[in-house]
Amino acid sequence: MDKKYDVIAIGMGPSSVFMAYELVQLKKYKKILLIEQGKRVEDRNCPLEKLGKCIKCKPYCNITSGFSGAGAFSDGKLSLYNEEDDDIYVGGNVHDYLGVDATKKLIDYADSVYLKFGADKHLEGIEYKEEVAKLKAKAKKNGLDLISIPIRHLGTEKAHDLYKKLEDYLEEHGVEMLFNTCVDDLIIEKGAIKGVKARNVLNNEEETFKADKVVIAVGRKGANWLVDICEKHDIQTEAGVVDIGVRYELSDEVMKDVNKYMYEGKFVGKPGPFGDKVRTFCQNPSGFVSSEVYDNDLNLVNGHSYKEKKSQNTNLAILVSHHFNHPFDKPIEYGRNVAKNLNELGAGNVVVQRLGDIYRGKRTWEKELTTNKVKATLKSATAGDITFAIGYRTMTDILQFIRSMDKVVEGFANPENLLYAPEIKFYSNKVSINENFETNIKGLYSIGDGGGLTRGLMMASASGIHLARVI
Ligand SMILES: Cc1cc2nc3c(=O)[nH]c(=O)nc-3n(C[C@H](O)[C@H](O)[C@H](O)COP(=O)(O)OP(=O)(O)OC[C@H]3O[C@@H](n4cnc5c(N)ncnc54)[C@H](O)[C@@H]3O)c2cc1C
Repeated sequence: MDKKYDVIAIGMGPSSVFMAYELVQLKKYKKILLIEQGKRVEDRNCPLEKLGKCIKCKPYCNITSGFSGAGAFSDGKLSLYNEEDDDIYVGGNVHDYLGVDATKKLIDYADSVYLKFGADKHLEGIEYKEEVAKLKAKAKKNGLDLISIPIRHLGTEKAHDLYKKLEDYLEEHGVEMLFNTCVDDLIIEKGAIKGVKARNVLNNEEETFKADKVVIAVGRKGANWLVDICEKHDIQTEAGVVDIGVRYELSDEVMKDVNKYMYEGKFVGKPGPFGDKVRTFCQNPSGFVSSEVYDNDLNLVNGHSYKEKKSQNTNLAILVSHHFNHPFDKPIEYGRNVAKNLNELGAGNVVVQRLGDIYRGKRTWEKELTTNKVKATLKSATAGDITFAIGYRTMTDILQFIRSMDKVVEGFANPENLLYAPEIKFYSNKVSINENFETNIKGLYSIGDGGGLTRGLMMASASGIHLARVI
């Protein structure tokens, strides 16, 4: 017999976990089911560190799947906001639906939950107001905006512990959690959601779960699946955006001021001649470059940093936003093709190249990395030539941006700095939702990164809390 629930959520990333947490507080629903294709948080581990290479864990990458989603191995930088700002600059678009003040309140609440479950009380980026103002002015002179907001840094190892406590809490409070289970399809009748079809990924047994309220919280990992599902069931979407770029690694010494004053500086510009938006994202002082595997074995680069274990390098993403409308309107597909070509060039791995080699018009060789001043922290990356696969437009945007950054942070364009690719953020397609995050299908909701609403831990968590309150 099919099992019936009040609410079912697909995925157990921060958006879904915080939704379930808030539903427990509200005590309105008794039968809540979360379905996740990956493992429990305590069973997740990435062999990359031990083996020195990514072995493409099956059936799912441990970095992107499992309880707490991409949050478990993330650097755990919780982006807050400035009291005085009349906009929210980081983490996604929740404020477009709820307004800035309501979103700030949600962030405060989500932050209080993170603190309750053990987040560090210390906030980065609030001490050095004068120094930050000077950096902002210097950035402005060189055509860049510098966004600085307070950040609470969990650190990768601490994030794991915190999410374990949340997992225990939800279980103790009666939330049912099904792991190693992939939702393959939605059951929709006469424009309303009725349930989901799921499959145990270990034994392929299929099962149907019924509910009049289903929440899509599949993160970037599920973005591809979501595109197909939206097409199949006529779930409305809007033209999305894909962010394509590189993970940039340079010495802590060069980045010391930005690291000290802000921990994470978010620089944004629109360099010529294309005027595309280029931004830095996910800066990790004394951090490590990492890789993660998406559908069809796509190997993407990322980065994180620990609270205790330190490298001598800072890494950050440099991302270019690309829109496609007519006649081609498939940003996810475009991004996948770029990633696929790069993975082929890297024999299945991420490719790394020195900035100076790009200027010299040559590939980077393995032996050159061993004597390079900036030592690569992602050992599994293949030395090569990223310019074979990244389009002229994207590459020009990135190089121009690096030149502008060099005028703000001396040494940013050091020829020994490293560019890893593909760094791609699959946020699109954007699922069309109303202010209750409900889609055009009655009872079907979309939260977090997967449907393009959010782009970070804090905003994903906030979106889940809001949904719990309005559902
Ligand atoms: C290495 C790394 C570092 C990061 N660092 C930061 C950071 O410092 N700060 C920050 O704000 N953000 C960071 N992020 C991004 C952040 O982790 C995400 O924004 C956040 O986790 C999004 O939450 P979510 O709930 O939307 O989705 P996710 O966390 O992506 O979770 C979605 C879950 O859904 C599951 N799923 C997908 N499809 C299905 C299906 N069909 N059936 C069942 N389950 C499914 C997936 O397995 C996954 O577990 C980082 C991400 C990575 C990978």
